[in-house]
Amino acid sequence: MQILRKTDQKAYAKAKKLGPKGVVKILKDKGLTGRGGASFPTGLKWEMVLKEKEKEKYIICNADEGEPGTFKDKFILVNNPELVIEGILIAAYTIKATRAYIYLRGEYEYLENKIRNVIKKVKAKTKSKANIELIVGQGAYICGDETAIIASIEGKRGQPRKKPPFPTVHGLYGKPTIINNLETFANVPLAILFDDWDSKLTLFSLSGDVTKPGVYELPVGTNLRKLVELGKPKHKVKAVYFGCFGGCMPYSNINLTNENVCGKDCMLGAHTIIVVDEKHSIVDMATNVAKFYEFESCGKCTPCREGTMRILNILENISLLEARKRDLETLQELAEVVKETSLCGLGQTATQHLLNALKFFRKEFEEKCR
Ligand code: SF4
Repeated sequence: MQILRKTDQKAYAKAKKLGPKGVVKILKDKGLTGRGGASFPTGLKWEMVLKEKEKEKYIICNADEGEPGTFKDKFILVNNPELVIEGILIAAYTIKATRAYIYLRGEYEYLENKIRNVIKKVKAKTKSKANIELIVGQGAYICGDETAIIASIEGKRGQPRKKPPFPTVHGLYGKPTIINNLETFANVPLAILFDDWDSKLTLFSLSGDVTKPGVYELPVGTNLRKLVELGKPKHKVKAVYFGCFGGCMPYSNINLTNENVCGKDCMLGAHTIIVVDEKHSIVDMATNVAKFYEFESCGKCTPCREGTMRILNILENISLLEARKRDLETLQELAEVVKETSLCGLGQTATQHLLNALKFFRKEFEEKCR
């Protein structure tokens, strides 16, 4: 696997020879894009922060991997954490950061000591003076949102805010800040050091109704069937979920690119694939996902706070065979309102799975309604 290659911290030495502008150029030329879901060009983001005149600048490594079915960042932390730390130190050198933070998912607390030791080891080897602070989150899904992470690190309640201004201009403590996903930082040393680094290779988290769940490294654009077959499903596959926020669609021959998946009203996001076979009910899936969002809504805005709760009530009624067919219209309407009127990405994507399920698998809902 490309992500398991060792650099022995030689990428940091090469970055120092290239200089900050050289680092930005190589990341742009090699085409590294963010691996957290938005696919924003990394070199461009770093360049924006590099150009800011402020003396204080920050770096945040988003390791708050809370999306259901996603475990690729944990895979890197367990198997090649040196890459992540080297990537952060290169970023700190490039923008002359005051301080860097790793915001670790609360459930990954057991990795804390290991990461602290790796920070010490990589800093000693590179002789970098940059400060890296490790913060263990308290388990809120919303803290995966970049503005909520900033609030949480600042000691405030982990709630998102409207953008713009973007963190590259007004980030942590109001200063220019680079926020990148952990897999993105891990790819920085590889992109800088190796001529044969492949920008298309990425990590997929595969789980659900498969006998071999796990992390698979494949090019973006891989055929969905090829990926799912690697997981050896036992029964006929009916649907796939792209985590929770990416929505769901019927199992098909689609090539996994952002454009193709968007065409099905889904999002590829962090490359999470949850497989659902014919033995499982889409109504049960929809209810489980709705429970997740009802619990994780931070409560700041009304459509998401009230809408996710009401949606869960209706879905539970459907599961108990106590709903009427007209309730499906209410469900659809509520899901659209939550999507259109919520403040942040959580609310705006919380009902996509349901809208897709009602479109592609409506019969399963109708069969449970009076
Ligand atoms: S959309 Fe939901 S998670 Fe986002 S601010 Fe509103 S209540 Fe909070």
